Amino acid sequence: MRVLVINSGSSSLKYQVRDTDTNEVAASGLIDRIGEGAGGPADHGEAMDLVAAALEGELVQKPLDAVGHRVVHGGERFSEPVRINNEITRAIERLNPLAPLHNPANVLGIRAITAKWPDMPQVAVFDTAFHRTLPEHAWRYAVPDSLYRQYGIRRYGFHGTSHEFVTGRAAELMGVPLTDFNAVVAHLGNGVSLTAIQGGASVDTSMGFTPLEGLVMGTRSGDIDPSILIFLQRQGMSADEIDTLLNRESGLKGLFGDNDMRAIVDAAAAGNSKARVALDIASYRLAKYIGGYHVAVGGAHALVFTAGIGENSADFRALVASRLGALGVKLDGEANLVRSGGPRVVSAPDSAIPVLVVPTDEEQAIAEATAAVVQRSA
Ligand code: ADP
Repeated sequence: MRVLVINSGSSSLKYQVRDTDTNEVAASGLIDRIGEGAGGPADHGEAMDLVAAALEGELVQKPLDAVGHRVVHGGERFSEPVRINNEITRAIERLNPLAPLHNPANVLGIRAITAKWPDMPQVAVFDTAFHRTLPEHAWRYAVPDSLYRQYGIRRYGFHGTSHEFVTGRAAELMGVPLTDFNAVVAHLGNGVSLTAIQGGASVDTSMGFTPLEGLVMGTRSGDIDPSILIFLQRQGMSADEIDTLLNRESGLKGLFGDNDMRAIVDAAAAGNSKARVALDIASYRLAKYIGGYHVAVGGAHALVFTAGIGENSADFRALVASRLGALGVKLDGEANLVRSGGPRVVSAPDSAIPVLVVPTDEEQAIAEATAAVVQRSA
């Protein structure tokens, strides 16, 4: 099947055409500066016109069978990918307050496709869906129940499409049936999240009500004492200022000044103390969470690294593993240095828990999920 995968942001739209039979990427691109003037597209409708124009030659050869949308927030309703119709679009729109930057853009992307190609099957694939199996003790915050009932304040988790894809590949690599597979999966990109996998399902994850909770990220703080927000507000900072501070100016960027892992590792090697401290904080926090999730799943069969840093930074993997000695984790120095696009084992044969690197591919996962939903509903 030929699937156009759309990832709409508030001012950008990333797309890929995937062939789900051959797994070939037939076309891909990015339209940015939507609605920012300066000659860019005025809205998501115009952006879709640009995508269609860019794909013209491609689509003449072979038309599209379906469109798959990455939708950030599926709330409590969506636990799997769904075929889109007007009711589903409105349901995604009703979740706007929970993801004010992302869901409105996803809805604009869906409506732009509906306007352009009214008969095209469309499927929504949710970033939160894989975490709908979290038990209540993992998703509830210890705050009055009314906050949950009134505002839906609970942990939702994100990066679900990536965690699900990587979990499946890792179980395959280990030769363990998915329903018997326990693991700790670390998605380390600009956003960072850790997921506890028990019997192939997500039973805990480090991102919460929003992607801000949990680990040290490129520009996000992860866990901090919530009183810091109250303190800053009393110092006169507005909600928007605190939002920007914790989501865009913190994490590795806040600690070192740059969120590119290569730059941080190079600077640390050259003796830069801020870079050293940033790496120590990020790896220490991650190691603590990994220990916690190893307990949560009742003993992991594997520790899995994925995404930009997880797949490419042998230095960061080694730093994290060096803090996991108490779990008997041991990397194989040479295997850890191998650069490859395939899933691989990077631990030593006598490591108590095998350590894997499994490249993620969210577009492939979305294309496959879209094809499966369309075939089922055909
Ligand atoms: P996003 O969350 O934006 O999709 P990615 O998964 O692409 O992020 O990961 C981005 C991170 O991966 C950056 O911190 C970048 O420095 C890091 N990264 C990418 N390639 C390498 C590499 N070869 N070595 C170390 N870090 C890398």
